[in-house]
Amino acid sequence: MQRVLVTGGAGFLGSHLCDRLIKAGADVLCVDNFYTGSRRNVDALIGHKAFELMRHDVCFPLYVEVDQIYNLACPASPIHYQHDPVQTTKTSVHGAINMLGLAKRVKAKILQASTSEVYGDPEVHPQVESYWGRVNPIGIRSCYDEGKRCAETLFFDYWRQHQLRVKVVRIFNTYGPRMHPNDGRVVSNFIVQALRGNDITIYGSGQQTRSFCYVDDLVEAMIRMMATGDDFTGPVNIGNPSEFTMIELAEKILSLTGSKSKLVFEPLPSDDPKQRRPDISMAAEKLGGWAPRVGLEDGLRETIAYFRTVVA
Ligand code: NAD
Ligand code: UDP
Repeated sequence: MQRVLVTGGAGFLGSHLCDRLIKAGADVLCVDNFYTGSRRNVDALIGHKAFELMRHDVCFPLYVEVDQIYNLACPASPIHYQHDPVQTTKTSVHGAINMLGLAKRVKAKILQASTSEVYGDPEVHPQVESYWGRVNPIGIRSCYDEGKRCAETLFFDYWRQHQLRVKVVRIFNTYGPRMHPNDGRVVSNFIVQALRGNDITIYGSGQQTRSFCYVDDLVEAMIRMMATGDDFTGPVNIGNPSEFTMIELAEKILSLTGSKSKLVFEPLPSDDPKQRRPDISMAAEKLGGWAPRVGLEDGLRETIAYFRTVVA
């Protein structure tokens, strides 16, 4: 039986990954400091004989015996990662150093949850893995973007210097049940606002685009990435290439919820990327023909059904 460590395992993506690994028969150690995640996300797994939950901050070394590590620990929404930016950089960088050190000691395979934010506000569209990005090193998003870029650097240096088996996935905007209702990301914000009958807050003109991936598709790709041969490190883009403006997203959510909320326009936060869409040809080729299966409307229906149970 594979012993698998998931850092950030009580978060949105991490908890779905834990579910999936347990179903596949793995022995899962979920490590989280509950900064943005919650025990509730893994409630259904507590008591399962193959599941263990440990409170731990990845900025500190961890001594456990595992075969695989999925490193997801890091706040992911702009509101959360900008709340304590120094802690965000520490989590990405010290967290990567500690988890890579652990992987080296126990000879585990290690996967990093990197991000489309490494491309910054891109001049290349759609984004391909070979594009180096356009990131502001001193702005309000830099703690996250540069932290994740430095983590990628560390992964590739451990690979070159210590022959560690590393895997890097660059995740594009992913959504689904268990997103935090107040985390400020666009899908959760719009759904919660629509369900409460509050105004839908569009930042800027609403013409900026994102490409939204449903969580199940993402988890499938991460599992396939971990299973690839040792010669494939990535980085590989994971996301759904269907691209929407924020106005289009708002309109879809209004129609699916039947809400009468009004659109209101607020200032665009600084360094907000204007356009984002993954080129997923490498994922299709290297991950056994992987492609996202859940379209935006179906994924939003599932997500709205979840939020109806948590939003008054
Ligand atoms: P999330 O905030 O729900 O999950 C992050 C988890 O990490 C939380 O449970 C949090 O408590 C935990 N954490 C934070 N700092 C920690 C620390 N120092 N030690 C231990 N645990 C810590 O966010 P998510 O959307 O599930 O994102 C998971 C990972 O995927 C993150 O690394 C994020 O950067 C990456 N990612 C997510 C998206 C997305 O669209 N959801 C896109 C790109 C990358
Ligand atoms: N956004 C918005 N209204 C909101 C929250 C976000 O218009 O209430 C916009 C935001 O400015 C950005 C896009 O939606 O252009 C995606 O934002 P999110 O925070 O979800 O992710 P990221 O910017 O990290 O891709």
